[in-house]
Amino acid sequence: MADAPEARILIVEDEEALADGVARGLTAEGFEVAIAHDGLTGLEQARSEDIDAIVLDIMLPGMNGYRVCQTLRDEGVGTPILMLTAKDGEYDEAEALDTGADDFLSKPFSFVVLVARIRALLRRSTDGRGQPLVIGDLMLDPISRTCHRGETLISLTTREYELLERLMRRPGQVIDKQDLLEQVWGEDFEGDPNVVEVYLGYLRRKLDRPFGRNDIRTVRGAGDRIGSEDRG
Ligand code: CA
Repeated sequence: MADAPEARILIVEDEEALADGVARGLTAEGFEVAIAHDGLTGLEQARSEDIDAIVLDIMLPGMNGYRVCQTLRDEGVGTPILMLTAKDGEYDEAEALDTGADDFLSKPFSFVVLVARIRALLRRSTDGRGQPLVIGDLMLDPISRTCHRGETLISLTTREYELLERLMRRPGQVIDKQDLLEQVWGEDFEGDPNVVEVYLGYLRRKLDRPFGRNDIRTVRGAGDRIGSEDRG
C-alpha cells in the first residue's frame, strides 16, 4: 500500500547492501528514496533536497551520524531523524536523542519495524500537528485524541473533540460559528446551525463547569473563543 502523497526518505548509510535493501523496501512501500553513503553527502542532501524524513546511521565515513544530526538541528533543519544505533553499546541511544534525533532503532532491525517508525515520524511531523495543544491546564493530544484538564482525563465524543481542537488551534481568537460549522460538520451540513452552540454547551459542561472555569466563551454576535482565565 502506497502512502499518498509519497514522502521522500533520505537514507544515510555506508553499508551499501543495507542501504540498497532498505531503499528497495521503502520504494515498494510507496516512498521516494534518496541514498547517501557518507556523512557529508548525507548532510548536503538533507539540507538541499526536499526530504520528509531521514534514516541516519551513526558510524559513517566523513562525518558521523551524531554530527550530521547536530549540525542539521543547529541550522534549524527540523526534518524528523531516525537514527540507527549499533547494538554493541559503544554508541548510546540516549546520545542519539541528545543530538536531536527523534527516534532510534538498533541494528539489526526488522524492516517492518523500520517502516512503522518512519510512518509514525511522518505523522508526528505533519505541520507539527502531532504536538499537544495546551491552554492553561487544559491539554489536547492529537496523537491519542485525548483531553485532560490537569490530571483528569475528559472523555469527548468525536464531534466534541474536533470542535475543541479547532478552538484550541487558535487560542484567544474569536472564531465565527459558521466557520466552526463548516470545519467540524462539513460544508454540506444541512441541519440546524445551532448545533455548534449545542456542542459548545456540551464542552462547557465537561471542561469548564466541573472545574469552576469559564474558558470557552461566546462573544455575542461574533463567535466563540477559548482562552485561559489565568491569562485574562
Ligand atoms: Ca555504518
